[in-house]
Amino acid sequence: MSLQTFFNPKSVAIIGASRQKGKVGYEILINLIAGGYAGKIYPVNPKADEIEGLKVYPDLPSIGETPDLVVIIVPAQFVPGMLEECAKVHVKSVIIITAGFKEVGPEGKKLEEEIVRIAKRSGIRFVGPNCLGLISPSHKLNACFGGDLPVPGGIAYISQSGALLAAILDTANANGIGFSSLVSIGNKADVDELDLVEAFGSQRETKVIAGYLENIKDGNAFVREAEQISQKKPILLMKSGSTAAGAKAASSHTGSLAGGDVAYESAFKRAGVIRCESIKQQFDFAQAFSNQPLPKGQNVVVITNAGGPGIMAADAIEQRGLTFAKLTEETKKKLAEKLPAAANVHNPVDVLGDALADRYEFAFDVVLDDPNVDAAVVLLTPQAMTQSKETAEALVKIAKKKGKPVLACFLGAAKVEPGIQVLRKGGIPQYDSPESAVETLNVMCEYVRWKARPKRVVRLFSVNRRKVESIVERHLRQGLLDIGEAEAKDIIEAYGFATPRGSIATTAEQAASIAQQLGYPVVLKIWSPDILHKSDVGGVKVGLKSDQEVKDAFDLMMYRIPKKKPEAKILGVLVQEMVRTSGKEVILGMHRDPQFGPLMMFGMGGILVEVLKDVSFYLAPLTGEEAKQMLMTTKTYQILKGVRGQEGVDIEAIAEGLQRVSQLVTEFPEIKEMDINPYVVGAPGTTSIAVDARISLEKK
Ligand code: ADP
Ligand code: MG
Repeated sequence: MSLQTFFNPKSVAIIGASRQKGKVGYEILINLIAGGYAGKIYPVNPKADEIEGLKVYPDLPSIGETPDLVVIIVPAQFVPGMLEECAKVHVKSVIIITAGFKEVGPEGKKLEEEIVRIAKRSGIRFVGPNCLGLISPSHKLNACFGGDLPVPGGIAYISQSGALLAAILDTANANGIGFSSLVSIGNKADVDELDLVEAFGSQRETKVIAGYLENIKDGNAFVREAEQISQKKPILLMKSGSTAAGAKAASSHTGSLAGGDVAYESAFKRAGVIRCESIKQQFDFAQAFSNQPLPKGQNVVVITNAGGPGIMAADAIEQRGLTFAKLTEETKKKLAEKLPAAANVHNPVDVLGDALADRYEFAFDVVLDDPNVDAAVVLLTPQAMTQSKETAEALVKIAKKKGKPVLACFLGAAKVEPGIQVLRKGGIPQYDSPESAVETLNVMCEYVRWKARPKRVVRLFSVNRRKVESIVERHLRQGLLDIGEAEAKDIIEAYGFATPRGSIATTAEQAASIAQQLGYPVVLKIWSPDILHKSDVGGVKVGLKSDQEVKDAFDLMMYRIPKKKPEAKILGVLVQEMVRTSGKEVILGMHRDPQFGPLMMFGMGGILVEVLKDVSFYLAPLTGEEAKQMLMTTKTYQILKGVRGQEGVDIEAIAEGLQRVSQLVTEFPEIKEMDINPYVVGAPGTTSIAVDARISLEKK
């Protein structure tokens, strides 16, 4: 069912409407009336006859028609009964404002489950419970007790925090920011962020979808849907709190590094969602996206009446990686003809402190026509003769004709306020600093690039899936959830990884004879299902060159390790060919996030990975492009590419390794976490080798 009736109902009933000022049941009614709602309003309350001049009905059936939207504000224990009553008269859309559900504990949770059941059974969609309600300015619908009705505009807002919504409303109303809708989703027991993103995605008046979320109910569905919608309109989200997975202690490197909210970060990146760090930033971005065209390129011109702010803007452009537009000769000539001799006709164009509105207008008109200009930042400082209002009027008039984004930064307060008012009404976003304006332009450029990204193509390698199936099944059957080095390697070999040759020895003599067969030097590694990080207990000895060294190393491990880890069951040692490359050690990993599924990790590996924490994450399945992006976002990428005459390593091999792991974990949801650490990569053309691997499983 479309949610459209929520935003454009022909009639609204308020169950629990009250005569008493200060009560939610009164405030909502008043907000609805004060907002100028044109549909019918039916207050419902068995103990009142009239509130604010409106006839009050004792119950829903006595209204005599089915209201399009019902707002419920009665105490929690009566909500199920009221919802039943809604069902009886075939109401389809309900807002449950009442608190006292899941958020208060097990009793409340039960009550919440009950209302979900009633709603499902009767085809009712509801917003809430425990929310402030919703607002739809273009239909003059303020079914919310968060504040006054804002002006209509292009921003749709979804908030998981009611209090934050109230703050946003207050700020927005003070600054004349317009909305298409605002929804406080509360406990989101039925209508959730996904439903609303979907609804706003196809709502014509919504140009930008913004929101504050603490969690996302269905991560995969959200990513899928948001990716589609981001293609049409930008989604700007603030997200607080971290995933449960991050908080839990993890045994793999990838798991312990995947803390915080890297899963959300990756999911947002994948879906094109623009993440915002504060309300201010969110509205800085939202206003530009909702009112201005997208830039076609990243060449920015700055127009100013003072040198200092012009330089600040230029620095910010440089720092963000945008391009400082080079004006054409023709533009410069035109500017020079009319501007005073002291003016700067190069970017940043300085119209000088005595510029009146007409000079700004002229310069603005000329530079926006320049083919080398994709976007403009207009700065104004209130100097003695400055006409902030008239200048703003000129900007609004010209900007409308040019089809290029224009962002303003009128610096100051009282003196520039009249100008800012005009800008706002005219749809030119105003910023409190040149940096904020440039940051916003940068986000717009990033969004344009994201939209133009190549189609995602996930490469499928031919692999030995059967073999992995049998190893995984056997481990699960025996209740062995940790797969140690030897068998983890069988698994990754089946997916195309090269690993060092080697086998298991249980005596010193056997170890020496395996070593001879392999050829010296060799590596000895402790073999125990209970030891995850072998080096930590002295369980790895590299570069052994003779039978004697192998035997000594064997004896030493058998003597020392049981002392360090008395509880560990030691099965023997792994004698392994020593990988001789001058290569670099990297880590390829995966950690399965409960919300978003397999999260791939890349980082500079070896034993230092958790110290350096120079890692990057991305959601599986990975495309080749995404795998390379993962490499490029680490600091060590420069080292891998080769610095100061040092030859670089095989970047393609690492990217391919990541894609192979991505395929493995996508095809085997039983794999909960895994690391290949180290993956030793040499110069391009040499074979990269997975020197160590571990995999942990979970029952599906
Ligand atoms: P763990 O991670 O359990 O401590 P590893 O097998 O990763 O044990 O070994 C630790 C380090 O020893 C590796 O990072 C690598 O530098 C080195 N190493 C291990 N096996 C080999 C090998 N076959 N050839 C060369 N170096 C190795
Ligand atoms: Mg290791």
